[in-house]
Amino acid sequence: MSQSVHNFGAGPSVLPASVLARAQHEFLNFADTGMSILEVSHRSAPFDRTIRQAEANARALLAIPDNYSILFLQGGATTQFAAVWYNLMAARVIRERFPPGASPIPVDYLVTGTWSKKAAQEAAHLGASVNIVFDAAKSAATHHTYTGIPPRSEWQFSGPDGRDAAYVYYCDNETVHGVEWDHVPTVHPDTILVCDMSSNIMSRPVDVSKFGIVYAGAQKNMGPAGVTFVVIRNDLLAHADPSTFTPFPIMLDYQVAQANNSLYNTPPTFAIYMCGLVYDWIQEQGGVAGMAEQSRAKCALLNTALARSRLYLCPVAEPYRSRMNVVINLTQPDLEETFLKGAQALGMLQLKGHRSVGGIRVSLYNALPLESVRTLVDYMTEFEAEHLG
Ligand code: PLP
Repeated sequence: MSQSVHNFGAGPSVLPASVLARAQHEFLNFADTGMSILEVSHRSAPFDRTIRQAEANARALLAIPDNYSILFLQGGATTQFAAVWYNLMAARVIRERFPPGASPIPVDYLVTGTWSKKAAQEAAHLGASVNIVFDAAKSAATHHTYTGIPPRSEWQFSGPDGRDAAYVYYCDNETVHGVEWDHVPTVHPDTILVCDMSSNIMSRPVDVSKFGIVYAGAQKNMGPAGVTFVVIRNDLLAHADPSTFTPFPIMLDYQVAQANNSLYNTPPTFAIYMCGLVYDWIQEQGGVAGMAEQSRAKCALLNTALARSRLYLCPVAEPYRSRMNVVINLTQPDLEETFLKGAQALGMLQLKGHRSVGGIRVSLYNALPLESVRTLVDYMTEFEAEHLG
């Protein structure tokens, strides 16, 4: 982000100014090759060092155990909606739990907003036997919309805590609706927990050992668009007998990606390089614990302003209000356009809510400085005083 603007966009979004400056500085001469990172072979020694270092740094930052692999893939998080299902249906450890020819293998989805819903729809589209454990938009407890997480008494897993499902899937932070889990849902130890962390990865410590798969599109907290970060427990990579599962495209096969160190085909070299720079920056900031600390300060500023306002209303209450994407509705919706125009004129950019829900959305990703939140809160306060008196 340039020093003169404040980027509140939901994604692709803000990158640390120092990371952009470093990338600019290195742009014409990557690792003393005399070539740009855009021009260097993915099979070259300098790029090999870059991807390995990025992987090692990501592993250290998230304390990813040794029995997990890290993959840098393409196709965005959306491609993982399909890849997760294909790969887990092919996984030997899962196939062993379900006798061949038995009834379709259920997969359990916890639906808290647009992205988990889309993931469930994609799995169903491919032929999965999808069980919706809950859809928050169908629960009275969440006002029949995506404003929180229904009480556990309403959840309907396949078997106790998902025991009879191949896997249980959820999205840790719903970028459009601004609903974030404040805990990792407990599931039966026999099932596999899968999580989309696209919009809050590396914003707080996470116990990776609770998951079979974690993935994230990079373009919010980790780097530019074009690379998707996947963490998978190694035992899930081994395939069952091919006669027992539907073949699927090689580009979606985690086993192939892992066996080739994410270099089965040409990877998004620039995006991986940029992620590496962001990982260095996060390390300098005190790691993901440091990011969580900074996030707390940013949220406290904004949430305090929201709590005392008569104009700005966040439909998502604590504890599920996202720390990354705060959705705000104006009690006088006719003021929305004026608000956004005024913000834009002052350099506060990309505040418009997602096209499907409208309103305002304030994204507070890792790289957004506290100063930007201060500037926004000052503007919100002045705007309210001016229009509500
Ligand atoms: N999951 C979440 C939580 C997202 O926020 C997004 C995009 O914003 C996606 C998935 C889809 O990501 P992509 O655009 O990389 O396919």
